[in-house]
Amino acid sequence: NRYWTLADEAVPAWPRESAFALKESKVPPPGLGQALTRTIYVSLDPYQLYYQRERTGPAGAPCHARTVSQVIESRMNGFEAGDFVFNTNGWTEYALMGEGIWRPDYMVPRKLDPSLGRISQAVGVLGMLGLTAYAGMDLMASPKPAETVVVSAASGGVGQIAGQLAKQRGARVIGIAGRDAKCKFVTEELGFDACLSHLSPTLTEDLAAACPAGIDVYFENVGGKVFEAVLPLLNQASRMTICGLIAYYGDRDGGVDNRAALMKLGEPIFNARGVTVKSLSVSEFAAKHDEMLAYVAPQVTTGKIRYREDIRQGLKTIPTAFVEMLRGDNFGKMLVQVSPD
Ligand code: NDP
Repeated sequence: NRYWTLADEAVPAWPRESAFALKESKVPPPGLGQALTRTIYVSLDPYQLYYQRERTGPAGAPCHARTVSQVIESRMNGFEAGDFVFNTNGWTEYALMGEGIWRPDYMVPRKLDPSLGRISQAVGVLGMLGLTAYAGMDLMASPKPAETVVVSAASGGVGQIAGQLAKQRGARVIGIAGRDAKCKFVTEELGFDACLSHLSPTLTEDLAAACPAGIDVYFENVGGKVFEAVLPLLNQASRMTICGLIAYYGDRDGGVDNRAALMKLGEPIFNARGVTVKSLSVSEFAAKHDEMLAYVAPQVTTGKIRYREDIRQGLKTIPTAFVEMLRGDNFGKMLVQVSPD
């Protein structure tokens, strides 16, 4: 069994490939209450940087990641050999799940129904990312017809879904993304009304021109200068969902100071205009997973909701893919396929 673990050095602000070490171990037999699984897809998500820097999880273990896997041998109730599962194997070819195996509280292993969609989607649109977009947009911000909605990191895993959900509510949706190809995808494939680049030196003016009636909902994935461009345009009684602040994830304190600075900067406008600002934590919406799935999965199947993945091949590519995702070199939800599906 090959796996990636943290090298001895501290994980730098924006990690380099050298922060990770490739190791080998024997494939362990499952104990009572456990199942042995082979990893098929490893999900690479921004929050994993925080886990790495905090060294969350057992020392020396594979780096944490949500995964799609297949059961090889089971001594765990409810799981049989051959089942496809969502679990948290991490950056490894094989792992045990179940009794005594560490995982984040709310990332409970579950059996997948392959008839609902491609199994890779279980760590994306049909899993945590779909739930994040559904909770942050439909349940928290509730856009109304003709309102103006802005979504940052619009071509990414969460952003692409959040914007399409807002379009379904009849809103006018403006995306913000990086390079031109991403902006083109956001308008031409996802059907947003416009998409602006945060790489443009005139982002503030571009956004003001694209939102002549101001902004009613802001789905925040980024922070920094994107937030600064949005702030003056927020309307009376507008809503802002803080989903993520990826621009700050490389900060030494994980962005705590910058988050506080952002709220301080926003406060006068939030107060004067009665802006509702809510932070999203997807784990608090676990009970809404099935509701999201019933709404989103059929639409993904029929192509009514479009969803782009960026799938790299082979365990060896994981550190590079992870670093690239953090700096915006992914195009769609970033995954690595470790074994055939
Ligand atoms: P993405 O697929 O969107 O990948 C990250 C993207 O962020 C990059 O592709 C890049 O896109 C953009 N980006 C990176 N740095 C910057 C920057 N400095 N300024 C502007 N854009 C930047 O990742 P996800 O969809 O997985 O995650 C999106 C956000 O959702 C993250 O903030 C994440 O932490 C958050 N999240 C929050 C959850 C919650 O419970 N609150 C749950 C899941 C995710 P581009 O090229 O367009 O700049």
